[in-house]
Amino acid sequence: MNNAIFKFDSPQNEPILQYGKGSKEREQIISELNRISSEQIEIPLIIGGKEIRTGKTAKVVMPHNHGKTLGIYHQATEKEIHLAIDEALKAKEMWENLSWIERSSIMLRAAELLSKKYRNLIVASTMLGQDKNVYQAEIDAACEVIDYLRYNVYFASTIYNDQPKSEFGQLNRMEYRALEGFVFTVSPFNFTAIASNLNMSVALLGNTTVWKPATTSLLSNYYLMKIFMEAGLPAGVLNFVPGSGSLIGNTVLKHKYLAGIHFTGSNRTFNSLWRGVTENLTNYVSYPKLVGETGGKDFIFVHNSANPIEVATAIVRGAFEYQGQKCSAASRSYIPKSLWNEIKEHLLNQVSRIKVGGVENFENFMNAVIDENSFDNIMNYIELAKKSNECEILAGGTGDKSVGYFIQPTIIQTTNPYFTTMQEEIFGPVMTIYVYDDKDYQETLDICNKTSPYALTGSIFANDKYAMIQACKTLRYAAGNFYINDKPTGAMVGLQPFGGARGSGTNDKAGGSLNLLRWISPRTIKETFLPAQDFKYPFMEI
Ligand code: NAD
Repeated sequence: MNNAIFKFDSPQNEPILQYGKGSKEREQIISELNRISSEQIEIPLIIGGKEIRTGKTAKVVMPHNHGKTLGIYHQATEKEIHLAIDEALKAKEMWENLSWIERSSIMLRAAELLSKKYRNLIVASTMLGQDKNVYQAEIDAACEVIDYLRYNVYFASTIYNDQPKSEFGQLNRMEYRALEGFVFTVSPFNFTAIASNLNMSVALLGNTTVWKPATTSLLSNYYLMKIFMEAGLPAGVLNFVPGSGSLIGNTVLKHKYLAGIHFTGSNRTFNSLWRGVTENLTNYVSYPKLVGETGGKDFIFVHNSANPIEVATAIVRGAFEYQGQKCSAASRSYIPKSLWNEIKEHLLNQVSRIKVGGVENFENFMNAVIDENSFDNIMNYIELAKKSNECEILAGGTGDKSVGYFIQPTIIQTTNPYFTTMQEEIFGPVMTIYVYDDKDYQETLDICNKTSPYALTGSIFANDKYAMIQACKTLRYAAGNFYINDKPTGAMVGLQPFGGARGSGTNDKAGGSLNLLRWISPRTIKETFLPAQDFKYPFMEI
C-alpha cells in the first residue's frame, strides 16, 4: 500500500469565516456558546489513551465572568507523570515505524474534523475558556490549528524526499529517525493553535509526547485531544497531563529518555526548564533538543513619510486585539513629532469606539484578560506610569476585576524612551508611545534596537523607500518577524513562519520546515557494492 513516493502540494490556508450579522456561522456559534456555558464538564488526564481521574481537582472558569464555572479538571500527581512518560515510550515503537504517510493521514483527518464537524466546538470553547472574541477565536482555534496540520504534512514531505546523491558503486540514503526518547511539550494559554502544533508537529515526525497544557486553556485543549483521538491518533502518542507546572517539569526533566522540549510561554519558565536540563545533563541518553518561543516587546516604528491613519489603525489592532495577550502584540511605538497630532487624533478616536466586555456580545472588540494574576500584573504597570512624571495616560488606565478581568485599552505617552513600559513585556492592553524629533530618525532607530531584551516582532511604517530600508537594516536583529507598513501581529502558517531570537526564544520558526527539522535525528546510510580487498592505495606504488 505504501510502495509509492507520495507528493503533497503546498496547501491553501483555511478560509476565515466572518460571522457577519445574519450569517449562518453566527447563528451556529451562538447556539454552541449557549450549549457550552450551560453545562459543566469534567476534564480528566488522558494517558495511554485512557481517561484518568485523580480526584485532585480545580475549576475552569470564564475570565469575563469568573464566578461562572465551565467545568473541573483533574491534576496529575507524580504517579501519573511517570505513567505518561512510560506510555509515551511504549507507544513510540509502533508510531515511529508506521509509514509517515499514515501519520500524515491522521493529521489531515484531524484538520478535516476541525474544519467541519468540530469547528463550532473548538471556536466556542476557545472563546469561553480563553476569552477571545469570535474572530480572534476563529483565526486561532479553527484556521491556524488547521493550517499547521496541513502545512506540516507538506513540509514533512519535502524533508522525507530530500535524499543524498550516490556515486557509482554505492547507494546513499538518509533515514529521518524520530528522536530517541519522548518529547516534553509545554503550551501557553493564549493560542489553541500553539497547543495543537507543539504536539502534532513533533508527532508527525514519529515522536511521542508528554503534554503539559496551560491551566487556563484546558477547555479547548481537552477538546483538541479528543478530536485528535477521533482522527485516529493511537493511544500514548500524545499524553495529556494537566497539573502543576513545576511538579510536572521537575519530574520529566529527570528522565534519562527526555529527548526534547517543545515550549511556548514566558522566559521565566523556559529559563527554568533550560536550567533543569543543564542540571540533569549527564543523566540523558541524548542531548535534549530545546525549542522555545518566549516573550516579546514588539514595536511599531513610524517615519514621517507614513500615512497617519494607517499607523493609528495598526496600533489599535496590533496592541489591543486579544487584550494585547499575544507574544507579537505591539506594545511600544516611536512616532515623529511632525505626525504626532494627526496620529493621536485618529488613535484616540478609534480607541474611544472600542467596547470591552464578554465574548457573547459581538460588539465587543476586547474581552477580559486571562486571570487575576495577569490582571494585577498589568494594572501594576499602569499604576507605575500614572505615578511617573515621565508619563501621561492618554486613554484608558482603568480596570475592574469584580465580575471579569477587564482592563480598558490604555495608551501611555512617555518622554523617556527607556521607561519600564517601553522595555518589559506587559502582556496586556497597554501601548506606550515615545514621540521623537524628526531629525533624530537614525538615533531613535538605534534606541529601539537596544531598549528591550526581546526580538520577536516589529514593524516600520514609511513610504520613503530609503527610510524603510534604513529601518530594516538598523533593526535587523530586533525582530524575527519584521513587517513593512503592517501591524506586527497576525503571522500566518506557511506564509510568515514565526519566531524571534535574543530573549524571544530559539527562533525555530513554527509554521515552516525549519521547526520540523528539530524533531528528527537523521541517520545517514552508505552501502558499498564492491568493498575494497586490499589496504594499499595507488599512490603507494613505486
Ligand atoms: P507561562 O510561562 O506562565 O506558562 C507556559 C506553560 O508553562 C504553562 O503550561 C505553564 O503551566 C507551564 N509551566 C509553568 N512553570 C513550569 C515549570 N516549572 N515546568 C514546566 N512547565 C511549567 O506562559 P503563559 O502565561 O501561559 O503565556 C504567556 C507567555 O507566552 C508570554 O510571555 C508570551 O509572550 C509567550 N508566548 C510566546 C509566543 C511565541 O511564539 N514567541 C507565543 C505565545 C505566547
